[in-house]
Amino acid sequence: MGLFSKVPCAICGNNVGFLSRKRLVNKEGYICKECEKKCSEFINVGHFTKVEIEEHIKYMEKQNKLYYEAFEPIDKRHISRFVSISTGLEFADEIAMFKVVSPKANKKVYQELFRYDQINHYEPYYKENNGSNSDKKYSEVGLTIYLNCSRRGFGEAEGSVTGVGARNFHPYVKELQIPTARNVNEFSHVGLKDYLDKLFGKYEDNSVIGSIKSSFVGTNKERAEMKAAAEGLKALGNLAKSKITKSEEDAEKSRESAETFKNDALDLATGNRATYTKIANEVEDRIWNK
Ligand SMILES: [Zn+2]
Repeated sequence: MGLFSKVPCAICGNNVGFLSRKRLVNKEGYICKECEKKCSEFINVGHFTKVEIEEHIKYMEKQNKLYYEAFEPIDKRHISRFVSISTGLEFADEIAMFKVVSPKANKKVYQELFRYDQINHYEPYYKENNGSNSDKKYSEVGLTIYLNCSRRGFGEAEGSVTGVGARNFHPYVKELQIPTARNVNEFSHVGLKDYLDKLFGKYEDNSVIGSIKSSFVGTNKERAEMKAAAEGLKALGNLAKSKITKSEEDAEKSRESAETFKNDALDLATGNRATYTKIANEVEDRIWNK
């Protein structure tokens, strides 16, 4: 079989030429351009087997449904959008999920969402300017968002994989690189990092008004701690009351506030991720199980 002869795509069976196909892992044949358009822009199809690609396309079909039924109908005023140099993120707090905006995404068949609780951490990245066209220090800066991911890396040893099936682990993507500026001397994030800091409870208002406010009511972290402590006291109070009154209603109240306490305490420890998990699970269950 010559280099330029047509071969069938392992996924759809159409015969494809040399320029419109990519080789799958383990010499399992080829995937055509059209089938690759059904895959996420964040995976390398050359690292997947035929069965894995088929699973991945099913995953993308579900993501597409999630996007059109849960994200798209949201009032645009409730979406926080940070897009520069045609790439960025759109956050939908009410479903605790975000979308990556990019020129590549427009060429894909399916839309996909990421969950807030899949974000492990994030940090700025810098690409040194090696060309002579610019006197600026960096040719590109941006933010790398590291996700909890349950997939092994390409070429990594077989073995147990953490987080399989856990919905706060992304099944495919380990990191997202989001460029925010080109030809600059310093990191510039157009509010994106501030927004993430706010989501995960790291944000402190550095303005004069902010510092006056926090001198009265404490920092965000202190407020969160006070709220968790107050809920804990309420849970204990209701529990004591239910013991005295032997009332079902009081017992129920104490269970409820104990739940709230547990959630607030978890949020404090996990940067609000406990709440984001709850919200995103409810949304996915609603869309996929109907
Ligand atoms: Zn195909």
